[in-house]
This record gives sequence, C-alpha cells and structure tokens, in this order.
Amino acid sequence: MQCRPDSATLGPAFAARARKDLHSPALLAHERAKFTPHIGNTAEHMTRRRKIYEGKAKVLYEGPEPGTLVQYFKDDATAGNGARHEVIDGKGVLNNRISEFIFTKLNGLGIPTHFLRRINMREQLIKEVEIIPLEIIVRNFAAGSLVKRLGLEPGTQLPRSIIEFCYKDDALHDPMVSEEHITAFGWATPQELDDIMSLAIRVNDFLTGLFMGVGIQLVDFKIECGRLYENDMMRIILADEISPDNCRLWDIKTRNKLDKDRFRENLGGLVDAYREVAQRLGILVETDNALTTGPRLVQ
Ligand code: C5P
Repeated sequence: MQCRPDSATLGPAFAARARKDLHSPALLAHERAKFTPHIGNTAEHMTRRRKIYEGKAKVLYEGPEPGTLVQYFKDDATAGNGARHEVIDGKGVLNNRISEFIFTKLNGLGIPTHFLRRINMREQLIKEVEIIPLEIIVRNFAAGSLVKRLGLEPGTQLPRSIIEFCYKDDALHDPMVSEEHITAFGWATPQELDDIMSLAIRVNDFLTGLFMGVGIQLVDFKIECGRLYENDMMRIILADEISPDNCRLWDIKTRNKLDKDRFRENLGGLVDAYREVAQRLGILVETDNALTTGPRLVQ
C-alpha cells in the first residue's frame, strides 16, 4: 500500500477518471442507464456502451459504477503481434470462465485482483485500474522466446522461477526490458516493481499447485498489473486475465499442449484444449460441448 501521489504525476488514465468524478449525479445516472449487460458478439450490442479500449482479445467498456469497467472476451486469436488473426468460436467464453475461476481463487487467498464478478458468458465486471505498461512473464520451464534466445532444450526445468518484463508497445513488438529501464523511464517505481514481483511469485505458486493437481504442468505465463487508487492510497493489483491465452500448459503425462501455442504453432484443436483445461479445473462438466448453449457450472 502506498500514499496517493500528486495528481500531476498520475497520468492520463487518472486525469480521465478525475474528470468523470466531476460528472453531476444526473449525468452519472444517465450514463448508468445506458449500461445493459449483453451476451452477444454483435456490433449493435457493442455500440450501446462507451468503449474505453479495444485490445487483440478483449474490449473494455465503461462500467455501471464509477471506478468499474466491463471486460469483454472476444473470440479473436492473434499471433506474431497481430500478423496472424483468426476468430475461434468459443474461445472468449472459455477464457472468461477460466479467468473468473482463477481470479476468484486469488481474491480468496488475499492476492488482490481487479476481478469483481462475471456478468455473463463473455463479460466480467472489474475494478478500473491504471495499467502499468509491462507484461510480467514468469517461467518455470524453458519454452517459447526463452528457448530461442538462450538455445535451451524445450521443457528444461529452470534452476528457479525466472521473472521477465516486456514493455507493452505493439509498434515495438513488446520488447524485453530490464528493471533498470522500468525505473529509469518511470514505468514503475522500485517499490512498485517489488510489489509486482512478489505478486507474480505468489500467483506462480498458486497456479503451479492448481494445475499440478489436475495433471497440468505450468510452463510459463504472463500477467499484467495496475494501480488501484482507493481512499488516498494506491496499491498494485493483478489486472487483465489468466487463461490458456497467456499461460503455457502442458499435459503432464502426454506433453500435449493445452494453450495458445496450439494456434501459434498451427496445431489445431485450440477450443478442445481450452475446454479440457476448464473441465479438469471443474468449471465445466465433461458433457458440456455446445458452448453456444452456455457452459454449465458444477455446483
Ligand atoms: O513468447 P514467450 O515465450 O515470451 O511467452 C511467455 C509467456 O507469456 C507465454 O505463456 C505466453 O503465452 C505469454 N505471453 C502473452 N502475451 C504476450 C507474450 C507472451 O500472454 N504478448
């Protein structure tokens, strides 16, 4: 927990929120009335609310209350920084459910996240945070870009979990950066970086055990963090999503890939793999195949 800094240093996201706080109650009520949770994926639905941000796999809309947003999971899959793009039916629904499951467990363990509740099959209500422009990658086994960079054998156990940072900038292809870059350019303070790293380690410990319990090896994953301003205090919390889109998950027995590498490497069967992850975690029952009719909760 840190003291709220001077508003001049808070950046455009905070300034925008501060402007919104100045809205009259009548205007806020009008804004809220515009909010209608939706299930569909149509442009008509998407125009009803103010879009705050659209990424490759998700859209953020203004939420029903100040300080909240709606996170919408798209079916879009991209690789090579958007060079390849496909729409994969059912991916968004599965990621919404898997991420909800994981963030709910993390909240329950006292690991702070932006997740408030799932609204429908594609959307969740989240706390609005000021996103720190870093991708935080935690690696337990060698894979992906680490294998290419260091010439390691894929699947080699690393001497210990390794944290890497990439600067979020599509035009620059999210370059890897060091703690020196991060603090020198002011993307995060040294204290924030400490908080981010301890959060990343706690998430890794939890996820490793969670997946190991269902026969899955957590090879690596990516998280994003944000600053949450509450009562003149600021703290770093987990944002974005945790799903097979941003984890490498290998079946412990078969070494089968159950993550987005199925798309990146043109292996096919992405939705089946994500559904397998959801079923093993107990989110879907085994007979839930027709995602369009809505996954059934085991409870
Ligand atoms: O490609 P690389 O090996 O660096 O990826 C490490 C981890 O970070 C993988 O689990 C990958 O899914 C995730 N990642 C991500 N978004 C990116 C880059 C990597 O979720 N833009």
